[in-house]
Amino acid sequence: MKIEELYQCFLQCDSVSTDTRKIEPNSLFVALKGDNFDANTFAQEALNKGAAFVIIDNKQYFTDEDKMILVPDSLTALQELARHHRQQLGLPIIALTGSNGKTTTKELINTVLSEKYNTKATIGNLNNHIGVPLTLLSFNEDTDIGIVEMGANHQKEIELLCSIAEPDFGYVTNFGKAHLEGFGGIEGVIKGKSELYAYLRENAKTAFINLDDPIQLEKSKGINHFSFTLSEGGNVRIESASANPMVKIQFNNQTIQSHLIGIYNANNINAAIAIGKYFNVSDAEIKNAIENYIPSNNRSQLMKKNSNDIILDAYNANPSSMSAAIANFIQIDAEGKIAILGDMFELGTESIAEHQKIVELLRNEIGIKTIFVGKDFYANKISSDHIHFYKTFEEFAEVFKNTKPQNKAILIKGSRGMALERTLDII
Ligand code: ATP
Ligand code: MG
Repeated sequence: MKIEELYQCFLQCDSVSTDTRKIEPNSLFVALKGDNFDANTFAQEALNKGAAFVIIDNKQYFTDEDKMILVPDSLTALQELARHHRQQLGLPIIALTGSNGKTTTKELINTVLSEKYNTKATIGNLNNHIGVPLTLLSFNEDTDIGIVEMGANHQKEIELLCSIAEPDFGYVTNFGKAHLEGFGGIEGVIKGKSELYAYLRENAKTAFINLDDPIQLEKSKGINHFSFTLSEGGNVRIESASANPMVKIQFNNQTIQSHLIGIYNANNINAAIAIGKYFNVSDAEIKNAIENYIPSNNRSQLMKKNSNDIILDAYNANPSSMSAAIANFIQIDAEGKIAILGDMFELGTESIAEHQKIVELLRNEIGIKTIFVGKDFYANKISSDHIHFYKTFEEFAEVFKNTKPQNKAILIKGSRGMALERTLDII
Protein backbone atom coordinates (compact mmCIF):
# COMPACT_ATOMS: atom_id res chain seq x y z
CA MET A 1 0.00 0.00 0.00
CA LYS A 2 1.25 3.45 -0.84
CA ILE A 3 1.80 5.98 1.94
CA GLU A 4 -0.85 8.30 0.44
CA GLU A 5 -3.50 5.61 0.74
CA LEU A 6 -2.49 4.88 4.32
CA TYR A 7 -2.58 8.60 5.02
CA GLN A 8 -6.12 8.91 3.67
CA CYS A 9 -7.24 6.25 6.15
CA PHE A 10 -5.44 8.09 8.97
CA LEU A 11 -7.12 11.39 8.02
CA GLN A 12 -10.53 9.79 8.42
CA CYS A 13 -9.71 8.80 12.00
CA ASP A 14 -9.88 10.86 15.19
CA SER A 15 -6.96 9.19 16.99
CA VAL A 16 -4.29 6.49 16.75
CA SER A 17 -3.81 3.65 19.18
CA THR A 18 -1.47 0.71 19.66
CA ASP A 19 -3.25 -0.64 22.72
CA THR A 20 -6.55 -2.52 22.37
CA ARG A 21 -7.36 -1.73 26.00
CA LYS A 22 -7.54 1.95 25.03
CA ILE A 23 -9.35 1.83 21.70
CA GLU A 24 -11.45 4.90 21.03
CA PRO A 25 -14.31 5.03 18.52
CA ASN A 26 -13.20 5.96 15.01
CA SER A 27 -9.52 5.41 15.75
CA LEU A 28 -6.70 3.91 13.73
CA PHE A 29 -5.33 0.83 15.46
CA VAL A 30 -1.74 -0.19 14.69
CA ALA A 31 -1.01 -3.83 15.52
CA LEU A 32 2.57 -3.97 16.82
CA LYS A 33 4.56 -6.97 17.95
CA GLY A 34 6.10 -6.80 21.43
CA ASP A 35 8.27 -9.23 23.32
CA ASN A 36 5.29 -10.93 24.91
CA PHE A 37 2.41 -10.28 22.55
CA ASP A 38 1.47 -9.90 18.93
CA ALA A 39 -1.28 -7.30 18.51
CA ASN A 40 -2.19 -8.80 15.12
CA THR A 41 -4.19 -11.26 17.20
CA PHE A 42 -6.29 -8.33 18.49
CA ALA A 43 -7.01 -6.84 15.04
CA GLN A 44 -10.61 -8.03 14.80
CA GLU A 45 -11.22 -7.12 18.45
CA ALA A 46 -10.03 -3.56 17.74
CA LEU A 47 -12.62 -3.25 14.96
CA ASN A 48 -15.30 -4.67 17.23
CA LYS A 49 -14.43 -2.00 19.77
CA GLY A 50 -14.97 0.76 17.24
CA ALA A 51 -11.64 1.27 15.47
CA ALA A 52 -12.22 2.59 11.96
CA PHE A 53 -9.08 1.01 10.46
CA VAL A 54 -6.45 -1.47 11.58
CA ILE A 55 -2.88 -1.73 10.30
CA ILE A 56 -1.61 -5.33 10.50
CA ASP A 57 1.43 -7.21 9.24
CA ASN A 58 0.25 -10.80 9.50
CA LYS A 59 -1.97 -12.17 6.70
CA GLN A 60 -3.37 -14.82 8.99
CA TYR A 61 -5.46 -12.20 10.81
CA PHE A 62 -6.60 -10.35 7.70
CA THR A 63 -10.35 -10.76 8.09
CA ASP A 64 -11.78 -7.48 6.78
CA GLU A 65 -10.83 -6.13 3.36
CA ASP A 66 -12.42 -2.72 3.87
CA LYS A 67 -11.06 -1.91 7.27
CA MET A 68 -7.79 -3.78 7.50
CA ILE A 69 -4.59 -2.54 5.91
CA LEU A 70 -1.99 -5.23 5.41
CA VAL A 71 1.59 -3.89 5.40
CA PRO A 72 5.01 -5.60 5.41
CA ASP A 73 5.78 -4.23 8.88
CA SER A 74 3.35 -2.36 11.15
CA LEU A 75 6.01 -0.49 13.12
CA THR A 76 7.63 0.83 9.94
CA ALA A 77 4.20 1.81 8.63
CA LEU A 78 3.50 3.74 11.85
CA GLN A 79 6.83 5.55 11.58
CA GLU A 80 6.39 6.36 7.89
CA LEU A 81 2.88 7.59 8.51
CA ALA A 82 4.16 9.87 11.27
CA ARG A 83 6.91 11.29 9.04
CA HIS A 84 4.45 11.87 6.20
CA HIS A 85 2.00 13.62 8.52
CA ARG A 86 4.77 15.77 9.94
CA GLN A 87 5.79 16.76 6.39
CA GLN A 88 2.22 17.54 5.39
CA LEU A 89 1.71 19.82 8.40
CA GLY A 90 5.05 21.55 7.94
CA LEU A 91 4.98 23.03 11.44
CA PRO A 92 8.14 23.89 13.42
CA ILE A 93 9.20 21.02 15.66
CA ILE A 94 11.53 21.23 18.65
CA ALA A 95 13.25 17.96 19.60
CA LEU A 96 14.70 17.35 23.03
CA THR A 97 17.08 14.70 24.19
CA GLY A 98 19.74 14.31 26.89
CA SER A 99 20.43 12.14 29.89
CA ASN A 100 18.43 13.95 32.57
CA GLY A 101 15.62 16.44 32.65
CA LYS A 102 14.05 15.86 29.23
CA THR A 103 10.48 15.56 30.46
CA THR A 104 10.83 18.45 32.90
CA THR A 105 12.33 20.68 30.19
CA LYS A 106 9.70 19.57 27.67
CA GLU A 107 6.92 20.51 30.09
CA LEU A 108 8.55 23.87 30.84
CA ILE A 109 9.02 24.72 27.16
CA ASN A 110 5.45 23.65 26.48
CA THR A 111 4.03 25.83 29.23
CA VAL A 112 6.13 28.85 28.16
CA LEU A 113 5.28 28.56 24.45
CA SER A 114 1.61 27.89 25.13
CA GLU A 115 1.36 31.43 26.55
CA LYS A 116 1.44 32.60 22.95
CA TYR A 117 0.97 29.58 20.68
CA ASN A 118 -1.14 26.53 20.22
CA THR A 119 1.41 23.88 21.14
CA LYS A 120 1.36 20.12 21.33
CA ALA A 121 3.99 18.08 23.13
CA THR A 122 4.88 14.51 23.96
CA ILE A 123 2.36 13.18 26.43
CA GLY A 124 4.05 11.93 29.59
CA ASN A 125 7.20 10.05 28.67
CA LEU A 126 6.18 8.59 25.27
CA ASN A 127 9.66 9.21 23.91
CA ASN A 128 10.73 6.08 22.00
CA HIS A 129 10.39 4.63 18.47
CA ILE A 130 6.66 4.13 19.09
CA GLY A 131 5.96 7.14 21.33
CA VAL A 132 7.58 9.67 18.99
CA PRO A 133 5.42 8.63 15.98
CA LEU A 134 2.30 8.67 18.17
CA THR A 135 3.26 12.14 19.40
CA LEU A 136 3.68 13.40 15.82
CA LEU A 137 0.36 11.91 14.78
CA SER A 138 -1.34 13.83 17.61
CA PHE A 139 -0.36 17.15 15.96
CA ASN A 140 -2.95 18.76 13.71
CA GLU A 141 -3.59 21.84 11.55
CA ASP A 142 -4.22 23.93 14.65
CA THR A 143 -0.82 23.10 16.13
CA ASP A 144 1.61 26.04 15.81
CA ILE A 145 4.66 24.36 17.38
CA GLY A 146 5.35 20.71 18.26
CA ILE A 147 7.65 19.67 21.12
CA VAL A 148 9.00 16.15 20.95
CA GLU A 149 10.91 14.33 23.69
CA MET A 150 13.34 11.74 22.36
CA GLY A 151 14.70 9.07 24.66
CA ALA A 152 17.41 6.57 23.87
CA ASN A 153 19.30 3.80 25.54
CA HIS A 154 21.46 2.74 22.61
CA GLN A 155 23.23 4.15 19.54
CA LYS A 156 21.34 5.15 16.36
CA GLU A 157 18.06 5.54 18.23
CA ILE A 158 18.08 9.37 18.17
CA GLU A 159 19.15 9.22 14.52
CA LEU A 160 16.07 7.15 13.72
CA LEU A 161 13.78 9.43 15.75
CA CYS A 162 15.18 12.50 13.96
CA SER A 163 14.58 10.89 10.58
CA ILE A 164 10.93 10.49 11.57
CA ALA A 165 10.30 13.81 13.33
CA GLU A 166 12.56 15.95 11.10
CA PRO A 167 13.02 18.58 13.84
CA ASP A 168 13.73 22.21 12.97
CA PHE A 169 15.16 22.89 16.41
CA GLY A 170 16.93 20.76 18.99
CA TYR A 171 18.08 20.92 22.57
CA VAL A 172 20.25 18.42 24.45
CA THR A 173 19.66 18.85 28.19
CA ASN A 174 23.00 17.33 29.18
CA PHE A 175 25.28 14.36 28.71
CA GLY A 176 25.26 12.29 31.88
CA LYS A 177 25.71 8.82 33.22
CA ALA A 178 22.41 7.23 32.27
CA HIS A 179 21.75 3.98 30.40
CA LEU A 180 25.49 3.24 30.48
CA GLU A 181 24.73 -0.42 29.80
CA GLY A 182 23.15 0.10 26.36
CA PHE A 183 25.41 2.98 25.30
CA GLY A 184 28.67 1.42 26.46
CA GLY A 185 29.91 4.06 28.90
CA ILE A 186 29.84 7.86 29.01
CA GLU A 187 31.61 8.28 25.65
CA GLY A 188 28.83 6.18 24.14
CA VAL A 189 26.20 8.40 25.77
CA ILE A 190 27.80 11.52 24.30
CA LYS A 191 27.98 9.92 20.87
CA GLY A 192 24.40 8.67 21.01
CA LYS A 193 22.86 11.95 22.20
CA SER A 194 24.96 13.89 19.68
CA GLU A 195 22.99 12.22 16.90
CA LEU A 196 20.51 15.08 17.38
CA TYR A 197 23.30 17.59 16.74
CA ALA A 198 24.39 15.59 13.69
CA TYR A 199 20.86 15.81 12.28
CA LEU A 200 20.63 19.57 12.92
CA ARG A 201 24.05 20.14 11.37
CA GLU A 202 23.39 18.10 8.23
CA ASN A 203 20.01 19.72 7.68
CA ALA A 204 21.01 23.31 8.49
CA LYS A 205 18.63 23.50 11.44
CA THR A 206 19.02 25.34 14.76
CA ALA A 207 20.28 24.16 18.14
CA PHE A 208 19.43 25.78 21.44
CA ILE A 209 22.51 25.51 23.60
CA ASN A 210 23.72 26.16 27.10
CA LEU A 211 26.86 28.18 26.47
CA ASP A 212 28.18 27.34 29.94
CA ASP A 213 28.38 23.60 29.20
CA PRO A 214 31.68 22.91 27.39
CA ILE A 215 30.59 19.53 26.02
CA GLN A 216 27.43 20.99 24.49
CA LEU A 217 29.48 23.76 23.00
CA GLU A 218 31.97 21.37 21.47
CA LYS A 219 29.46 18.84 20.17
CA SER A 220 27.24 21.51 18.58
CA LYS A 221 30.06 23.14 16.60
CA GLY A 222 29.06 24.20 13.11
CA ILE A 223 25.32 24.35 13.85
CA ASN A 224 23.27 27.58 13.79
CA HIS A 225 22.53 28.21 17.38
CA PHE A 226 20.64 30.31 19.85
CA SER A 227 22.20 30.22 23.28
CA PHE A 228 21.74 31.07 26.92
CA THR A 229 24.42 31.72 29.53
CA LEU A 230 25.01 32.99 33.02
CA SER A 231 27.91 35.06 31.70
CA GLU A 232 28.52 37.14 28.58
CA GLY A 233 28.25 36.51 24.89
CA GLY A 234 25.07 34.49 24.42
CA ASN A 235 21.68 35.36 22.98
CA VAL A 236 19.95 35.21 26.34
CA ARG A 237 21.62 36.28 29.56
CA ILE A 238 20.48 34.70 32.83
CA GLU A 239 21.62 37.02 35.63
CA SER A 240 21.61 34.43 38.40
CA ALA A 241 20.26 31.05 39.44
CA SER A 242 19.94 29.73 42.98
CA ALA A 243 18.01 27.05 44.87
CA ASN A 244 16.77 26.98 48.46
CA PRO A 245 15.36 24.44 47.85
CA MET A 246 13.20 25.81 44.97
CA VAL A 247 15.02 27.28 42.01
CA LYS A 248 14.96 31.06 41.67
CA ILE A 249 16.11 32.71 38.45
CA GLN A 250 16.99 36.35 37.93
CA PHE A 251 16.47 37.38 34.36
CA ASN A 252 15.91 40.74 32.59
CA ASN A 253 15.33 42.49 35.93
CA GLN A 254 12.65 40.09 37.06
CA THR A 255 12.73 37.28 39.61
CA ILE A 256 11.22 33.97 38.58
CA GLN A 257 10.35 31.82 41.59
CA SER A 258 9.79 28.23 40.42
CA HIS A 259 8.30 25.17 42.12
CA LEU A 260 11.23 23.01 41.03
CA ILE A 261 13.66 21.70 43.62
CA GLY A 262 17.40 21.56 43.13
CA ILE A 263 19.88 23.74 41.32
CA TYR A 264 20.14 21.06 38.60
CA ASN A 265 16.70 22.24 37.46
CA ALA A 266 18.04 25.74 36.75
CA ASN A 267 19.23 24.85 33.26
CA ASN A 268 15.93 23.15 32.48
CA ILE A 269 14.24 26.47 33.28
CA ASN A 270 16.90 28.53 31.49
CA ALA A 271 16.39 26.50 28.32
CA ALA A 272 12.65 27.19 28.47
CA ILE A 273 13.36 30.92 28.95
CA ALA A 274 15.71 30.97 25.96
CA ILE A 275 13.29 29.10 23.73
CA GLY A 276 10.49 31.41 24.86
CA LYS A 277 12.63 34.44 23.92
CA TYR A 278 13.46 32.90 20.54
CA PHE A 279 9.75 32.56 19.78
CA ASN A 280 8.99 36.08 21.04
CA VAL A 281 7.09 35.18 24.19
CA SER A 282 7.19 38.24 26.46
CA ASP A 283 9.21 38.31 29.68
CA ALA A 284 6.04 38.62 31.73
CA GLU A 285 4.49 35.60 30.00
CA ILE A 286 7.65 33.57 30.52
CA LYS A 287 7.67 34.42 34.22
CA ASN A 288 3.99 33.61 34.57
CA ALA A 289 4.33 30.24 32.82
CA ILE A 290 7.32 29.06 34.85
CA GLU A 291 5.94 30.22 38.17
CA ASN A 292 2.72 28.32 37.55
CA TYR A 293 4.39 25.07 36.58
CA ILE A 294 4.06 22.42 39.29
CA PRO A 295 6.02 19.18 38.73
CA SER A 296 4.20 15.89 39.07
CA ASN A 297 4.85 12.15 38.81
CA ASN A 298 7.33 11.91 41.70
CA ARG A 299 9.81 14.18 39.89
CA SER A 300 11.47 16.55 42.35
CA GLN A 301 8.28 17.12 44.32
CA LEU A 302 8.29 18.82 47.70
CA MET A 303 5.66 17.57 50.11
CA LYS A 304 4.80 17.57 53.81
CA LYS A 305 4.12 14.39 55.75
CA ASN A 306 3.81 14.23 59.56
CA SER A 307 5.86 17.40 60.10
CA ASN A 308 8.59 16.21 57.71
CA ASP A 309 9.57 18.04 54.50
CA ILE A 310 9.97 15.41 51.83
CA ILE A 311 11.79 15.79 48.54
CA LEU A 312 10.24 13.00 46.53
CA ASP A 313 12.40 12.22 43.53
CA ALA A 314 11.56 8.56 43.14
CA TYR A 315 10.72 8.70 39.43
CA ASN A 316 14.17 7.67 38.30
CA ALA A 317 17.88 7.85 39.13
CA ASN A 318 21.26 7.47 37.52
CA PRO A 319 24.73 8.51 38.72
CA SER A 320 24.42 12.07 37.35
CA SER A 321 20.97 12.85 38.69
CA MET A 322 21.77 11.09 41.99
CA SER A 323 24.93 13.18 42.51
CA ALA A 324 23.01 16.34 41.61
CA ALA A 325 20.22 15.53 44.05
CA ILE A 326 22.71 14.75 46.85
CA ALA A 327 24.72 17.94 46.24
CA ASN A 328 21.49 19.89 46.48
CA PHE A 329 20.41 18.06 49.63
CA ILE A 330 23.76 18.68 51.34
CA GLN A 331 23.42 22.43 50.89
CA ILE A 332 19.79 22.93 51.95
CA ASP A 333 19.06 24.31 55.42
CA ALA A 334 17.36 21.84 57.77
CA GLU A 335 17.49 20.72 61.40
CA GLY A 336 17.85 17.03 60.66
CA LYS A 337 18.25 15.30 57.32
CA ILE A 338 17.54 11.77 56.13
CA ALA A 339 18.47 10.52 52.65
CA ILE A 340 16.75 7.34 51.48
CA LEU A 341 18.48 6.27 48.29
CA GLY A 342 17.66 3.28 46.10
CA ASP A 343 19.70 1.38 43.54
CA MET A 344 20.35 2.92 40.11
CA PHE A 345 19.56 0.47 37.30
CA GLU A 346 20.98 -0.16 33.80
CA LEU A 347 24.62 0.60 34.62
CA GLY A 348 26.01 -2.69 33.34
CA THR A 349 29.54 -3.57 34.35
CA GLU A 350 30.07 -0.13 35.91
CA SER A 351 27.21 -0.56 38.33
CA ILE A 352 28.98 -1.56 41.56
CA ALA A 353 31.67 1.10 41.08
CA GLU A 354 29.09 3.82 40.35
CA HIS A 355 27.14 2.88 43.48
CA GLN A 356 30.36 3.04 45.46
CA LYS A 357 30.98 6.62 44.27
CA ILE A 358 27.58 7.60 45.63
CA VAL A 359 28.33 5.97 48.98
CA GLU A 360 31.59 7.95 49.07
CA LEU A 361 29.72 11.22 48.54
CA LEU A 362 27.91 10.64 51.83
CA ARG A 363 30.60 8.91 53.87
CA ASN A 364 31.68 12.15 55.56
CA GLU A 365 28.29 13.83 55.64
CA ILE A 366 27.66 12.93 59.26
CA GLY A 367 24.76 15.40 59.47
CA ILE A 368 22.77 13.29 57.02
CA LYS A 369 21.39 9.94 58.13
CA THR A 370 21.62 7.94 54.92
CA ILE A 371 19.77 4.76 54.14
CA PHE A 372 20.80 2.83 51.04
CA VAL A 373 18.29 0.35 49.67
CA GLY A 374 19.09 -2.25 47.02
CA LYS A 375 21.65 -4.91 46.29
CA ASP A 376 24.21 -2.80 44.39
CA PHE A 377 24.42 -0.28 47.21
CA TYR A 378 24.54 -3.19 49.65
CA ALA A 379 27.55 -4.59 47.78
CA ASN A 380 29.41 -1.42 48.88
CA LYS A 381 28.39 -1.70 52.54
CA ILE A 382 30.67 0.21 54.89
CA SER A 383 30.52 0.33 58.62
CA SER A 384 29.38 3.77 59.77
CA ASP A 385 27.08 5.26 62.38
CA HIS A 386 25.17 7.52 60.03
CA ILE A 387 24.90 5.19 57.02
CA HIS A 388 22.70 2.09 56.85
CA PHE A 389 22.27 -0.55 54.16
CA TYR A 390 19.37 -2.82 53.23
CA LYS A 391 19.33 -5.32 50.39
CA THR A 392 15.61 -4.95 49.67
CA PHE A 393 12.83 -2.43 50.17
CA GLU A 394 11.00 -4.92 52.37
CA GLU A 395 13.93 -5.28 54.80
CA PHE A 396 14.26 -1.48 54.96
CA ALA A 397 10.52 -0.96 55.46
CA GLU A 398 10.39 -3.48 58.29
CA VAL A 399 12.87 -1.37 60.30
CA PHE A 400 11.96 2.12 59.11
CA LYS A 401 8.24 1.86 59.84
CA ASN A 402 9.03 1.96 63.59
CA THR A 403 11.31 5.03 63.50
CA LYS A 404 8.64 7.75 63.03
CA PRO A 405 10.81 10.71 61.93
CA GLN A 406 9.68 14.20 63.01
CA ASN A 407 10.58 17.64 61.62
CA LYS A 408 13.16 16.19 59.26
CA ALA A 409 14.09 16.99 55.67
CA ILE A 410 13.88 13.69 53.80
CA LEU A 411 15.24 13.02 50.31
CA ILE A 412 13.82 9.96 48.55
CA LYS A 413 15.49 8.97 45.28
CA GLY A 414 16.06 5.78 43.32
CA SER A 415 15.44 4.09 39.98
CA ARG A 416 11.87 3.53 38.81
CA GLY A 417 12.19 -0.19 39.51
CA MET A 418 12.86 0.51 43.19
CA ALA A 419 9.49 2.34 43.50
CA LEU A 420 10.74 4.22 46.56
CA GLU A 421 7.57 6.31 46.67
CA ARG A 422 6.34 3.35 48.76
CA THR A 423 8.36 4.96 51.58
CA LEU A 424 5.61 7.60 51.91
CA ASP A 425 3.30 4.94 53.36
CA ILE A 426 5.65 4.27 56.27
CA ILE A 427 6.72 7.81 57.22
P1 ATP B 1 13.59 9.73 31.28
O1 ATP B 1 14.88 9.19 30.76
O2 ATP B 1 12.94 8.82 32.28
O3 ATP B 1 12.64 10.15 30.21
P2 ATP B 1 14.02 12.55 31.69
O4 ATP B 1 15.30 12.87 31.01
O5 ATP B 1 12.77 12.87 30.97
O6 ATP B 1 13.99 11.04 32.17
P3 ATP B 1 12.91 13.97 33.95
O7 ATP B 1 11.82 12.99 34.05
O8 ATP B 1 12.61 15.36 33.53
O9 ATP B 1 14.10 13.37 33.07
O10 ATP B 1 13.66 14.09 35.36
C1 ATP B 1 13.96 12.92 36.10
C2 ATP B 1 14.85 13.27 37.24
O11 ATP B 1 16.15 13.67 36.76
C3 ATP B 1 14.42 14.47 38.08
O12 ATP B 1 13.53 14.13 39.08
C4 ATP B 1 15.73 14.96 38.65
O13 ATP B 1 16.08 14.21 39.78
C5 ATP B 1 16.73 14.67 37.60
N1 ATP B 1 17.10 15.83 36.77
C6 ATP B 1 16.28 16.65 36.09
N2 ATP B 1 16.96 17.57 35.40
C7 ATP B 1 18.27 17.33 35.65
C8 ATP B 1 19.48 17.93 35.19
N3 ATP B 1 19.46 18.99 34.37
N4 ATP B 1 20.64 17.39 35.64
C9 ATP B 1 20.66 16.34 36.49
N5 ATP B 1 19.55 15.74 36.94
C10 ATP B 1 18.37 16.21 36.52
MG1 MG C 1 11.34 11.64 30.22
